[in-house]
Amino acid sequence: MTGISVGRLWYPVLTLGYGKRLGVWVQGCRRRCRDCISPDMQPFSRNYVLTAEQILDRIPEHAPVDGLTISGGEPFEQAEGMLELIELFRGRYSEDILVYTGYTIEELHHKESDQMEEILKNIAVLVDGQYAAEKNSGIGLRGSDNQRIHIYKYHERYTGAERQKRDLQCVQLKNRLWMIGIP
Ligand code: SF4
Repeated sequence: MTGISVGRLWYPVLTLGYGKRLGVWVQGCRRRCRDCISPDMQPFSRNYVLTAEQILDRIPEHAPVDGLTISGGEPFEQAEGMLELIELFRGRYSEDILVYTGYTIEELHHKESDQMEEILKNIAVLVDGQYAAEKNSGIGLRGSDNQRIHIYKYHERYTGAERQKRDLQCVQLKNRLWMIGIP
């Protein structure tokens, strides 16, 4: 299995998608958006590399799992490992897989990569586009108004999500607090 360089992992994530989810933040992004909301995820360090199997092992036994949220960093920079994770997760838990990317959907299709297409076929929701702080108007699920929500599955869960109120989940990460969600 291919390893994924992971920035952070959390279960349960309650504020990025429907229900109780596994959250995976991949490490590494080339975009350098102004006002990046996760600057610590930009470096392509390989300090914490896990296989898909090891990532899913972080879910407690018998815990309810409604979906998987993948963010970053830039998930599509690690498309091979990401596809393995998506396939394993779908087989074990759910097809509700929500992915955040700084690429637009057009840019992803333009890459003409089989892995990209396979990922897009197998996820439920893609939130695409670079984060733009000046266009952050507080809409649900997206960071800024230029980003788009593409819903492929679970329309009943995600249609109208941008009209819902944002929430932040405060968790203890080692010796500091971490807010999960869109600020
Ligand atoms: S795409 Fe995300 S992680 Fe990458 S620079 Fe932009 S806000 Fe930061």
